[in-house]
Amino acid sequence: MKKNGLVLALCLVLIGSLFGTVQSAQAEGEGPNYNGNETIQNERLHTYDELVKSLEQYAKRSDDMILEVYGQSIKGRDLYLARFGDNEDNPTVLFLTQQHGNEALTTESALEVIKYLTNNSKQVQDIIDNVNILIAPRLNVDGAEGDVNFSLDDYVAGTHTRYNADGFDLNRDHVNRDQPETKALHENVIQKYEPDFMIDFHHQGTQTTLGDTDEYVSGSILYPTNEGVDPEVRERSKQLGAIVYNAVDDKGYGLLSKYRGGTAPTISRNGLALEYGIATLLFEMRGMADHYYEPYVLGQKSNGYLIQQGVTAMKAVLESFVDGSIETVDTSFWDTLPVSGSKGEEHEDEH
Ligand SMILES: [Zn+2]
Repeated sequence: MKKNGLVLALCLVLIGSLFGTVQSAQAEGEGPNYNGNETIQNERLHTYDELVKSLEQYAKRSDDMILEVYGQSIKGRDLYLARFGDNEDNPTVLFLTQQHGNEALTTESALEVIKYLTNNSKQVQDIIDNVNILIAPRLNVDGAEGDVNFSLDDYVAGTHTRYNADGFDLNRDHVNRDQPETKALHENVIQKYEPDFMIDFHHQGTQTTLGDTDEYVSGSILYPTNEGVDPEVRERSKQLGAIVYNAVDDKGYGLLSKYRGGTAPTISRNGLALEYGIATLLFEMRGMADHYYEPYVLGQKSNGYLIQQGVTAMKAVLESFVDGSIETVDTSFWDTLPVSGSKGEEHEDEH
């Protein structure tokens, strides 16, 4: 882990021990966070080997799915891309998950969508006829296995880490691309297939609220905010966000806030919009599989609806290319969407 990360980790452990009791009391009721009350059963998530096995099984179900290895992690694990459609007249969308290894349910969502896209139905054929799809599940394959060159003793479960094997944050590496995972993603996915749209799926803490209210959100979204991004790209990003917002808000579990995010180009939301003109959206789901800051960890009771939230978002975006709503959707909701608040200590850098 880098020095800054280590200092932050120590601060967070201290804050966690000071405020842990208070947060337990506040968090009761609405889809509990971990707070020591639940066991963490991360073995329910796909391991790396299970992920690869599932991808290989899905690829056999449909001629439309092409499964590629686009690079390797520090520890030598292959990075997989699922591709559907290759029509240069169509737009291309990229769904990226788990740049942070401890933000795991987004990959479960991606696997569900890949499975759906291999069902050979008329509905899926309509999608593939209208949009080229790139799904890159789990960029941080080493962190997700806890197979890293630093100790996870401070983590609640000790099974998943945000950082890659050498302690780097992949979502701060989209300018220099010093890490093999980000380098491979840029060179062998983004520059090769030139997506027009990208959703970057993450998880945030469990205590994020809708504005100043007491309501916990199921997720938070944001478009590229770097001032150098072409206004037309930002507007298309807001349209992408509108499709996701409308679909998720329609669900009983869905409650989204506007993410409080920075402008750094090293973050994919900003960097990909700035460098390639890709319309981007950050989508942060509630809670993490593991963390050294206890209030960030969500027990497995909420996993089902959070996985479905990711599936809903991805499918809605794909269908918006079929009915053309991606081009016409109203983006004015962004002007009134409440910005995230929090009931507890949050750390901007840790999402
Ligand atoms: Zn993240």
